[in-house]
Amino acid sequence: MELSYQSIRTANQAREADDMRTESRRRNLLILIFHHLMEAGYVDAASALEQDTNVCFRRFEVCDNIDLDTVLMEYESYYFIKFQRYPKLTKKLPEPGWREPTEFGLNVSPIIRNGAGEGQMKKEPLLKPLSAFIGMNSEMRDLAAVISRDIYLQNPAVRWDDIIGLQAAKRLVKEAVVYPIKYPQLFTGILSPWKGLLLYGPPGTGKTLLAKAVATECNTTFFNISASSIVSKWRGDSEKLVRVLFELARYHAPSTIFLDELESVMSQRGTGGGGEHEGSRRMKTELLVQMDGLAQSDDLVFVLAASNLPWELDHAMLRRLEKRIMVGLPSGNARQAMVSHWLPPLSCTGGVELRTELAYEMIAQATEGYSGSDIRLVCKEAAMRPVRKIFDALESHQQGSCNMPVIHLETVTTDDFLEVIAHTKPSARNLIDKYTAWETQYESV
Ligand code: ADP
Repeated sequence: MELSYQSIRTANQAREADDMRTESRRRNLLILIFHHLMEAGYVDAASALEQDTNVCFRRFEVCDNIDLDTVLMEYESYYFIKFQRYPKLTKKLPEPGWREPTEFGLNVSPIIRNGAGEGQMKKEPLLKPLSAFIGMNSEMRDLAAVISRDIYLQNPAVRWDDIIGLQAAKRLVKEAVVYPIKYPQLFTGILSPWKGLLLYGPPGTGKTLLAKAVATECNTTFFNISASSIVSKWRGDSEKLVRVLFELARYHAPSTIFLDELESVMSQRGTGGGGEHEGSRRMKTELLVQMDGLAQSDDLVFVLAASNLPWELDHAMLRRLEKRIMVGLPSGNARQAMVSHWLPPLSCTGGVELRTELAYEMIAQATEGYSGSDIRLVCKEAAMRPVRKIFDALESHQQGSCNMPVIHLETVTTDDFLEVIAHTKPSARNLIDKYTAWETQYESV
């Protein structure tokens, strides 16, 4: 009797101890989560956790050498030793989709890229919350919120292979921006990464495509800014905008800031006639100061600038763009590849077959001086010709549309193409000498 009473008591004590351990584990887990959220800067989420659980976690401290990261790492090691593979901790639900770009009035659009291969879990960088973006006054914080509000997860979906030609420019951009992010251990000391890179050349030659490929191929936060919009939309605030932008880029590093149409903000002082607007001068200075800040830091923030008119650029800015890469007009081979890419022998447009019979080589010769976007335009115009011919038929059949004939587009021929070229002149041919002269003087590859 005595023995059995004792055993019941022992069993009860053991159960109570077990319950206490479970309870204490639950609480510790919450404290670790709270600690993890605070460490990562998710201050609002941490406060919400306190509210939800009605526990003041701030009264607890996490002991030395322990946090969720460590716990997880140790679990992974244990699992690896036991099963010779790492545990699978999370599963992706089907069809996550990209968040649609929001209506974007400011033209400041940080793009976050996913760097995953097929079938892998997508590697989207976690965007840290702005609540930890401290050390700023409320006005700056508001600006940061405005910039961040327009952050959308977007895959620009431009692969290196989508860019036709430009082999040298691709190699240089990879070397200057992509590899330092991928292989940081190689880029130290004298090889410390470049901080500023200028892509210059005629409009429509693929400068923006190159920048988008960087965003697609690197796992970085990508800020895409049209410099003219800084000036026109931000006027008085543009200097502050630049400061906050660089702060944000550092905060979300590794980041790339793509400044398009650089000449519209960084033109040489005194050019363009009339006195320079005070606000715009302050903004220029701020941009230079920020670039200097980058050069002196180890932050993985790159400035990728593009300009169609490099000779208009301020020399102080040029000095800070250490690498200057000419993105020139497409070569004959590239032009041929472009035309056969956009107008292959057989393609489908809106469910209707479009056939072409083109002497690609001859067309490539005839399009000398055309930029990539010129050639795309010409291809579009050539493809429009047979489509235009069926408009009449379509319009006249609209009322009694039951017996619409099946649509057959006429084949696009070399003659069609040449006729289009005769009426669509290249946009930048006259400036080529100027680019080459500038390249001779300022090239830095
Ligand atoms: P910019 O040099 O003015 O930044 P973009 O990169 O915006 O020119 O190019 C404009 C368009 O022209 C692109 O969207 C693309 O359709 C076409 N294009 C220009 N260059 C190339 C190229 N090298 N390869 C493929 N498409 C190109």
